[in-house]
Amino acid sequence: MHEMSLSRGMIDIIQDYAAKSGFRRVDVVRLEIGALSCVEPAALEFCFESVARDTVADGAKLEIINVAGEAWCWDCARGVEVDRHGDRCPGCGGFRLKVRSGDAMRIKELEVV
Ligand SMILES: [Zn+2]
Repeated sequence: MHEMSLSRGMIDIIQDYAAKSGFRRVDVVRLEIGALSCVEPAALEFCFESVARDTVADGAKLEIINVAGEAWCWDCARGVEVDRHGDRCPGCGGFRLKVRSGDAMRIKELEVV
């Protein structure tokens, strides 16, 4: 499952950070998830909870911030906002779009103890 490997990646980053910064527990993980990342928030929460067990992030809460996707429309020659893959350009209704951002997930902030 996609969300499972993402969760493992998050825990790796968090533990790495914990080793450097010396905090013992994470309360809240703020995550930015792009509208085009195909990440299912409920699945991610479920996977994260199980992967986080017995780590510094055990019991940590996920706060998900949704980020709009951005694509370049070749016909309008400008950047436009899109919500999902396969969306039409909101400007001209065309499909000649190239996704520029909003297809990734990243940890924005950690609240730690
Ligand atoms: Zn367009």
